Amino acid sequence: MSFHNTFYQRASSFFKAYPSASKLLLLSSFSGGGLLVYSDSNPLKSVLASNATLSDGQPIRKKKVVVLGSGWSGYSFLNYLNNPNYDVQVVSPRNFFLFTPLLPSVTNGTVEARSIVEPIRGLMRKKGFEYKEAECVKIDASNKKIHCRSKDGTSLKGTTEFDMDYDILVIAVGAKPNTFNTPGVEEHAHFLKETEDALKIRKSVINCFERASLPNLTEEERKKILHFVVVGGGPTGVEFSAELHDFLVDDVAKIYPKVQEFTRITLLEAGDHILNMFDKRITAFAEEKFQRDGIDLKTGSMVVGVTADEISTKERESGKIVTEPYGMVVWSTGIGLRPFIREFMQEIGQGQRRVLATDEWLRVEGCDSVYALGDTATINQRRVMEDIAAIFSKADKDNTGTLNKKEFNAVVKDICQRYPQVELYLKKNKLKNIAHLLKSANGEDTEINIENFKQALSEVDSQMKNLPATAQVASQQGKYLAKCFNRMEKCEKKPEGPLRFRGEGRHRFQPFRYRHFGSFAPLGGEQTAAELPGDWVSIGHSSQWLWYSVYASKLVSWRTRMLVISDWGRRFVFGRDSSSI
Ligand code: FAD
Ligand code: MG
Repeated sequence: MSFHNTFYQRASSFFKAYPSASKLLLLSSFSGGGLLVYSDSNPLKSVLASNATLSDGQPIRKKKVVVLGSGWSGYSFLNYLNNPNYDVQVVSPRNFFLFTPLLPSVTNGTVEARSIVEPIRGLMRKKGFEYKEAECVKIDASNKKIHCRSKDGTSLKGTTEFDMDYDILVIAVGAKPNTFNTPGVEEHAHFLKETEDALKIRKSVINCFERASLPNLTEEERKKILHFVVVGGGPTGVEFSAELHDFLVDDVAKIYPKVQEFTRITLLEAGDHILNMFDKRITAFAEEKFQRDGIDLKTGSMVVGVTADEISTKERESGKIVTEPYGMVVWSTGIGLRPFIREFMQEIGQGQRRVLATDEWLRVEGCDSVYALGDTATINQRRVMEDIAAIFSKADKDNTGTLNKKEFNAVVKDICQRYPQVELYLKKNKLKNIAHLLKSANGEDTEINIENFKQALSEVDSQMKNLPATAQVASQQGKYLAKCFNRMEKCEKKPEGPLRFRGEGRHRFQPFRYRHFGSFAPLGGEQTAAELPGDWVSIGHSSQWLWYSVYASKLVSWRTRMLVISDWGRRFVFGRDSSSI
């Protein structure tokens, strides 16, 4: 470390004295691979920038970028961020990244919790960023300040509170489980969001079996203790039910043979079907499989209250309230806003909205120096129809009130870039390009007037969809934003985005575009449903292997990859570990 420090000090004072030497270093690093490798793994660049000066000798003040959160979007942003002109500070109550898709596997010990987390300190050191283990409790946007509190509020040493200034704030704090204010859920149900949750569930499942195995219990009591209720038929609830069922079949039968007959899993879903965001074939397969497996699937069943040992539902068909005893409840019905984000929305005039809205460049609406990504925010995609007059008049360069072919061709690319729904609409209607769309409204006429232009584009906004709250979206947004930040200075001088139809010039960057690579729904018994782009659905054992390989490859480091693969191997050979620790 001290060698590096003195090396940097000497090197940077040398470069200050002889500016042209930095070019020489660049040149020699191209010819000598060794040096290039050295400078890549050390924050040499950031040190040089921190010592950079303006022409009058004043040091350039780096912009302070504060990042909230170390989850999918935050970690991905930090991982790709590479701009020496930023001083980056990270605040998150969790000093690690969590690979959430494998969290359900932690609940029954298929995978260990430590195998799916990556400490953030390593990345911080490599990048020269600073980390503070605390949570942000208030954003003061008008003074560009955040208020933070250290997470261990219960320790004897008390809480530590501090403020931080920022030039740019990146909010990547995810969401919290949504209870829809159902009474008793906070107190009695388990959530499945963090590593602690998964470990608590694991312990609780085992405890249920140990308790049910004690002497002097009636059959009714054993049945109650071993009644596992899962609320919510989305991917997480379904996967957890499947994992639990696997555990019962593969392991419980051997470990607790006397009580196995009393176990029951109930999956409650308020809607008509489970996995309703998936292809209908997948939903049907999953529902049939669960029925065959003996998982009690109840649709149209809305939970209205949970007490210490009973759960009540309102059945849609009969309108009746049904109450059942249970041993353990896992709640997984979707996500909601964190309270400090709600307050922030009030402050910036988004109080009426349900979620924090950003523009297509992930900038919070009404707050220029704040960005938000991942589950915290939604992109408020602009409608073509809102801007149609502006688009037309911008395109009509010669002010004739009509667009000729040349005028039209000059803006068509910008329209498609600025409004992604146009492309989705063309794809859906199997049209080759926007000219075909206009032809349908304009006939053979070569000049287009505003009415025909409006008519042709009138349907495209119907293709606007909110992006799902998934890791795939979050990590792509993190990477996208980092790449924008990396090219900030360049793009401020020479914007590379589409035309501004309502203003002058161009947008700095291309707007964010999501690319869907497909989704998986593990259904237990070594079977997985996969929905891949191009309407391709595959269900069964082969997709389970695809799932294993995709998830192993998506893990963020070789260390976690090795750990997870060895956990899978251990489970195949020895079964799951049933100790209640
Ligand atoms: P997160 O990843 O949740 O990260 C939020 C970060 O912010 C955390 O580090 C947290 O500690 C931190 N934070 C919280 N509060 C504060 C605060 N006040 N101040 C500062 N920092 C704060 N998606 C898929 O695409 N595929 C899957 O298979 C899949 N499986 C899932 C399984 C489970 C069990 C769960 C819970 C989710 C799953 N998801 C999956 C969804 C995916 O995990 C989320 O969409 C994703 O985590 C969202 O990323 P994010 O960065 O917005 O939030
Ligand atoms: Mg014209």
